[in-house]
Amino acid sequence: MSAPGGELRSASLAMVSTAESQGLGGVVSAAESQGPAGVVSAAEVAATVTDPELPMVTLAELGILREVRQTGDGVEVTITPTYSGCPAMEAIRADLLRALRRAGYENAGVRTQLAPAWTTDWISAEGRAKLAAAGISPPGPAPRRAAGPVPLRLGAREEPIACPRCGERQTERLAAFGATACRELRRCPACREPFEHVKEI
Ligand SMILES: [Zn+2]
Repeated sequence: MSAPGGELRSASLAMVSTAESQGLGGVVSAAESQGPAGVVSAAEVAATVTDPELPMVTLAELGILREVRQTGDGVEVTITPTYSGCPAMEAIRADLLRALRRAGYENAGVRTQLAPAWTTDWISAEGRAKLAAAGISPPGPAPRRAAGPVPLRLGAREEPIACPRCGERQTERLAAFGATACRELRRCPACREPFEHVKEI
């Protein structure tokens, strides 16, 4: 978990009256992003937004939310797409803007940052625990990749994938794709339950 930016600690949702937001672990910078009401920082608001395809985890826990900063009289949120062409990115952008506007940040923008490329290694420990609790097997270590364009590999992998329900190590793949392209459908021979696994990229 020492990818660029490392693990994005989930933001403390406690109401704060200062612009400090140490809870964001230095990846999301919250400098002076205090709301008009002076209560909840823009970084905290952004950190509560969940992923439309994996609603049990926040964008911060997934590592998609990279930075929240003050820009003149507004705030700018930086996100890194999970992979190019991910159909959820437009929904994510709209959800962030809606949440920020609701919190009083009328002048908010969302910027997309493509490099460094997102990797499943950026999913925080909290995010992985929430995936597992929802019956979705979290990704293992992402494959090492060279600099430059990152090919999206959504095929099978070699390492065994454990059942998120009973922990059985040897599970079988039923389909290359689950509910979304970033997941595959598997089945556990021990408890006989099907489950989805987030693929390593
Ligand atoms: Zn099982």
